[in-house]
Amino acid sequence: MSTQAAADFAALVNISAEKWPPRQRTYFGSLEIRPVQAGEAFAITTIRGCTGVMDLGDKRLMEYRITAREIAEDIAREINGDSGEGSFHGVFVAAGDLPTEAELTDARKRLEEFQRRLVAAADLEWERTKNPMFITDLERRAARQLGLEKPWLYDAKPLEDCPVCGEKIKPGVAVCRSCRAILDREKAAQYGLVPQERKSVAESQRQSEKREKEAGK
Ligand SMILES: [Zn+2]
Repeated sequence: MSTQAAADFAALVNISAEKWPPRQRTYFGSLEIRPVQAGEAFAITTIRGCTGVMDLGDKRLMEYRITAREIAEDIAREINGDSGEGSFHGVFVAAGDLPTEAELTDARKRLEEFQRRLVAAADLEWERTKNPMFITDLERRAARQLGLEKPWLYDAKPLEDCPVCGEKIKPGVAVCRSCRAILDREKAAQYGLVPQERKSVAESQRQSEKREKEAGK
């Protein structure tokens, strides 16, 4: 029994470079899943079987054996299931001590399928909202890992408030989209957006201040 227990190992394979927060279990404490390092095709975290202790109350404890495979499957399920239905983050339990080519190919395929689904969801969101705030980190990461160029990969400059109506506007715009106030007269004139007699907000503000001053004298 003791030799059998000592030999109870399972290879938890990770094909992604993602660093996951350590997994916590009462029977082994904290466990870190090795991420893939540069030049590696996969990383292995060796899991060993454990003996758990169950408190039955009345100072009675019951020991129970958990196999390495059970623990490894549990951790893989937890990591992969993190992001909704069909989610897969590249962690699986090898049948042997090392992952086979077939196991690795299958895992790569599943990971890519999941990443493509994330990218498709982000594309749809972008189509609807054009708002990078609605794109998740997971979706950005998927696009980067697939080597895809996407307009939503980049954080846009933060929006500013229109000084006239208070609506959110892109920095540097000539005219406010909501209230049509001319915010940059020079730029607006350049694109023929400002009739000669109209004044920019800043300009009319300066003039009204001047008038108030004069009236106050
Ligand atoms: Zn405005």
